[in-house]
Amino acid sequence: MVRKNEIRAGELAIAPPPATDASLVFIGSIHTPWTSRLDTPRQGRIDGPICKIKIFEPWQRALDGIDQYERLEVLYWLHQSRRDLVLQCPAHDGVARGTFSLRSPVRPNPIGTSIVALVGIEEATLLVRGLDCLDGTPLVDIKPDRCAFTPLAPPQPGDFETG
Ligand code: SAM
Repeated sequence: MVRKNEIRAGELAIAPPPATDASLVFIGSIHTPWTSRLDTPRQGRIDGPICKIKIFEPWQRALDGIDQYERLEVLYWLHQSRRDLVLQCPAHDGVARGTFSLRSPVRPNPIGTSIVALVGIEEATLLVRGLDCLDGTPLVDIKPDRCAFTPLAPPQPGDFETG
């Protein structure tokens, strides 16, 4: 069973330090068929339902060129997550693990990421498959999938080897 906000046996919650203001701005909103965390897939599937990513002004011009990519990396803010667990017990096995060894939505900064298939563009709305978030989830960023992305600048000394 997916967590609502309860703490399970073996989990450890801490008192988080005061927030530092990174001036995060939500650049859009994500619209999916899911209104309950209990029904939302744990990871998106490329053959999942078509979802909509609406980009707000003044960021709509930042979509220029995005149509050349079939796959995008989407970053979003899992806004209903608690943020204070350092040890968590996944529902399926009940074994406590460190938050950074899990893809749980419960994390100090609840950023979710998915690789999605871009299936259409309607003005400032992207139609995608592959998401796993609630309807109304705030959008943090969109990037081309790193596997498909060719940097515009030539390689520089010290760049990572890409094999
Ligand atoms: N694919 C992302 C990742 O790996 O970073 C998120 C994975 S997380 C396991 C997906 C789960 O987060 C969903 O099954 C749902 O229970 C929960 N979730 C989805 N949207 C959420 C939101 N806006 N706030 C809090 N929890 C959310």
